[in-house]
Amino acid sequence: MANGQGAPKTVSSAEKIYCANCIHCKLVKTPCGNGGQYQLRVRCDAGKWRKKLGEEKVYKYFTVARRSLDECDAYTPMGDARDYIRDLKKTLPIKDEVYTL
Ligand code: SF4
Repeated sequence: MANGQGAPKTVSSAEKIYCANCIHCKLVKTPCGNGGQYQLRVRCDAGKWRKKLGEEKVYKYFTVARRSLDECDAYTPMGDARDYIRDLKKTLPIKDEVYTL
């Protein structure tokens, strides 16, 4: 969910994957209210997050640290996940906030 480059790697189930530490996890602003406001969402730009009928699924930003997988063939880590997730949890909002443009 930040910048950085790296080669995709498939990680075994012994090493938990946090989507927030993957280059494909992107933060997006979703307009709401009267158009002058937005909420933060995260999406997987590798197209891995899908609803049952196939549409793309996005998640509320404040839940991003909970998005974890046993494995993903498109996971591209951006650094040490443990430190990053620990620091991220300290800075995430505690609920779905509405921001003003
Ligand atoms: S689902 Fe896979 S590719 Fe998408 S953000 Fe998570 S680890 Fe990255």
